[in-house]
Amino acid sequence: MKVLSKTKLQTALNKLSDSAEVFVPMQKGEKSAYFSWKSYEDGKDELMLEALNVYQSPKNVVFPQTERMYSIKNEGMKVNIDQTYEDDHPTIIFGARGCDVKGILAMDDAFLTRGYEDSFYKARRSANTIIANACYEPGANCFCNAMEVDLTEPAGADVILRDAGDAYVWEAKSEKGEAVTAQIKDLMEDKNVKLPEAKPFTQKVDYSGVAEKLKDMFEHPLWDKLSEPCINCGMCTFVCPSCYCFDIQVKMFGDEGYRFRAWDSCMFEEYTREAGGGNPRGASKERFRQRFLHKLEFFKERYGTPLCTGCGRCIVVCPTDINIVKIIDAVKEAEVNA
Ligand code: SF4
Ligand code: SF4
Repeated sequence: MKVLSKTKLQTALNKLSDSAEVFVPMQKGEKSAYFSWKSYEDGKDELMLEALNVYQSPKNVVFPQTERMYSIKNEGMKVNIDQTYEDDHPTIIFGARGCDVKGILAMDDAFLTRGYEDSFYKARRSANTIIANACYEPGANCFCNAMEVDLTEPAGADVILRDAGDAYVWEAKSEKGEAVTAQIKDLMEDKNVKLPEAKPFTQKVDYSGVAEKLKDMFEHPLWDKLSEPCINCGMCTFVCPSCYCFDIQVKMFGDEGYRFRAWDSCMFEEYTREAGGGNPRGASKERFRQRFLHKLEFFKERYGTPLCTGCGRCIVVCPTDINIVKIIDAVKEAEVNA
């Protein structure tokens, strides 16, 4: 086994940072998210590799919350693209849990497959390496096992780390993984260590048959009841590792300016408001239903896997206690044709 002692972790992060921007889960003041290792302040910031999930997932590394796309110049009636900003600087996500890796795989499906490629996403994602941190003790709100995630063997990771107490067992899983491993091979030892035993999930979630059942539940009265507490704040979508809705805006200064995109949310009324004032999802219930149908039915139909990774973040942040697990349970129990 290749093993990296935890006493050498910071040296390893420094070395990896020589050739890539390394994003690590950290607590910085009140914020917990994946921050660039270069911004780490010893004694002030806290590394969060042992926490199950920081508040913000690492999706912003490959799909930033705001992203400049083009700078433009008006010449008479013509709009010319002056420069395109496709960011391909090398990045490493260090310590992502399996649920967050699955969130990035879902974005790969949406942005890179079925005949459409988002060049901005592609540039970032091609230059990105994922070093995952296997889970052995699921938290109270975790249910990734029900959403096709293998928590100890996360698919899509370039390296898998396994926390063995004083050290991480380090296993490269791809060419990109081999390349980052080569950079820090001098810090590793070959030895056998005992891996932790996987603990059971406290939450029992049964997603089987839900996607199929939802096909007949678009008009079901259940949505009235379930959506009633929702205030459409959008918090659930912003913390979600697999939500990828965005809006494109333009900022002009005279005849020059730029286009940028920013995360948006299907929970917001403006998201689907049309120029003429019509809105196919004008009512809160319609937006709520859209979110859960997209997560649990539509994405599964199109890409063969749910768009929820079972990370549990939306359960924690929702100010009105809406819980996707209870929604799955309610769908399972619902009478269809009621
Ligand atoms: S966090 Fe809760 S209240 Fe806010 S939009 Fe999501 S489900 Fe609705
Ligand atoms: S829907 Fe909720 S539980 Fe599922 S991946 Fe998104 S934030 Fe996590």
